Amino acid sequence: MSLCELQTVLNQAADASTCAHKALASATDQLKASHDLLTAERNIALDNLAVMQAALLENRLNGATAAMKWITERLTMSGGRPDPDSPWLNDPLKYRIAHGSKPRFCPVCGSPSQGPVSDPVCSADCHRTRFLETLPEASRDAAKPLFPFCASDWTEERDLRLPFNMGEYAYATDGRLLIRRPAVEGLTELQDEHIPSAQKVRDLVSPLASRRYQKTEIRVPEQCPDCLGRGFHELITDHVAYHLDCHTCKGSGTGISDLLPVSPPALKGIYAASYVALIQDLPDLEVSEDPENHTLYFRFSGGAGILMGLEPEKMTPLVKEPPETDCYCHLQMKDGSTRYAAAIYLEPEHSQPIWRECLTDQEIVRQSIEAWRPLIGVYRK
Ligand SMILES: [Zn+2]
Ligand SMILES: [Zn+2]
Repeated sequence: MSLCELQTVLNQAADASTCAHKALASATDQLKASHDLLTAERNIALDNLAVMQAALLENRLNGATAAMKWITERLTMSGGRPDPDSPWLNDPLKYRIAHGSKPRFCPVCGSPSQGPVSDPVCSADCHRTRFLETLPEASRDAAKPLFPFCASDWTEERDLRLPFNMGEYAYATDGRLLIRRPAVEGLTELQDEHIPSAQKVRDLVSPLASRRYQKTEIRVPEQCPDCLGRGFHELITDHVAYHLDCHTCKGSGTGISDLLPVSPPALKGIYAASYVALIQDLPDLEVSEDPENHTLYFRFSGGAGILMGLEPEKMTPLVKEPPETDCYCHLQMKDGSTRYAAAIYLEPEHSQPIWRECLTDQEIVRQSIEAWRPLIGVYRK
């Protein structure tokens, strides 16, 4: 090798080394940048977590308003107030899903959905809407009246969101109310390996043919008897008025609720108003009660069905002892009337609460209370 050639090789080696250095420096810079970013993101997550934890503690000590200050301040500081253009401002759960790291949307209605990734359909209603489109055109009008009787929740093991056929009939049920109408083309034929099995449904409906039916008045009340249609209760304690959504009708004010029991005068059983509302207007309705099994069989022009009654022992009992802690209560008074009131312990060591009535600030004399039932559970402490 000549001197000149040697010089060239040495220059090339030096260039390569400079290049490698530059590449190394650039890689180090990038690594440092992503490390800084990760640290910054970790710090934000840590601070958010600590703020939420502080809010929880504050809530325990000083109530929800004081707790919200932590969260509001944090969001204001970090520019994280809710997106004012979000279509989900009136639905916190949907807002949470749509603006989270893994948003999922229902393929039917487009709403943010909690459904599984594989099929994020958001509700039983959307599931049925989609199913309806798979039915032959002629079957759709026959399938629709079955839908209100289908289940609204489901699990992997038990899915009653859709009506099904069994022989000459179509059925829809949520496990407590079952309706039977003529079979509809396109529905799944129930088999013995399904849950519930075809045999179980056959056994369940076998008494329908032999029962004696009669016309009986069975209707939900016009309005919620607990809040008299207002949808809320007003409680006045220490001259401060609280509005509380009616627990019985869930704020609707109507007589249709799964928490509202209906006892038709001619029957022995108690039935949930939400179910009675579904059957009360069926044409030419006739019923046949089996009180021992808390079961009401019914038939109407075009079909038949079975309604399970409420078992008395499953209804919240009225309690004689005073509540152990502050709560809203449904009071049964000794004069036979019922009232809503708040039971409040002024001092934790007191053995009896102070009772304050809804709608008036007049206190209730404890001796006039026959029994009480918690309304929405504990609201303080
Ligand atoms: Zn949907
Ligand atoms: Zn009500």
